[in-house]
Amino acid sequence: MQIISSAEDLAKIISNARQHGKQIAFVPTMGALHDGHISLVEIAKQSADFVVVSIFVNPLQFSANEDFDKYPRNLQADAEKLAAIGVDVVFAPTVQDVYPNGDAITQHAGPVGNTFEGAVRPEHFDGMLTVVARLFDLVQPDFAVFGKKDAQQLFLIQRMVRESNHRWNDLKIIAAPIIREQSGLAMSSRNKYLSQSERTIAESINVALKQWQTGIAAVKAKLDPAIRLDYVALVDPNTFEEIDDSFKGQALLIFAGRVGNTRLLDNLSITI
Ligand code: AMP
Repeated sequence: MQIISSAEDLAKIISNARQHGKQIAFVPTMGALHDGHISLVEIAKQSADFVVVSIFVNPLQFSANEDFDKYPRNLQADAEKLAAIGVDVVFAPTVQDVYPNGDAITQHAGPVGNTFEGAVRPEHFDGMLTVVARLFDLVQPDFAVFGKKDAQQLFLIQRMVRESNHRWNDLKIIAAPIIREQSGLAMSSRNKYLSQSERTIAESINVALKQWQTGIAAVKAKLDPAIRLDYVALVDPNTFEEIDDSFKGQALLIFAGRVGNTRLLDNLSITI
């Protein structure tokens, strides 16, 4: 496994793999890898014969009051995990490597970028899409794997690719299921911030979401009262807009809230 930071080295390795007839699958991450990330890599390996994982904490998607500086970083431990499952390349660039011409926003999430996560984290999605587009330009993958855990992010990436006029050729986005701890708590790099008692509080999230059949009020009632709720809502996965009472079909129940200082997300795909 090669660990590289320069975009130039990456381009050489990718072009070499292509010359050998390989298809490329790409898994973008911010590191602090857990079994959720590893499951994405396994899916990437099943999709193509050359797997690139990026580890990059993107300053553009954090606002000034967020955890960019203290976001967990451990390249060595991450690289060991990725080597053990047979990743070909770890791309761990610096900010300068990713944005040599300055880190201006190049992608705009539009109205869906201002709702739910976007309402709580202004400009987060513009920064996220900007780095994903930049990474797609560098890696030129055939497949890219993203977790359903970040449902709004996944929606926006799928839309960006669909509307990109084949900027990344025939790139296919693969949506990977949410990996959970035994308790049902969705795995997240930010779970590292939780104390033992906060973890117990966080474990009520998935339990509560499963109450959806008796209504959103029942979901809220089941959440531990120590959770500071940002939103619980039912959205149409095709538009990411809130659904009304007449909706029938596949919907997404989305949650975000804070346990102590840690923001957590979860969601559940349901049929109404
Ligand atoms: P992050 O490192 O948090 O930016 O996440 C990198 C990728 O891993 C994103 O596509 C996430 O949606 C995905 N991911 C994070 N947590 C999980 C999880 N528990 N299950 C599945 N995918 C996940």
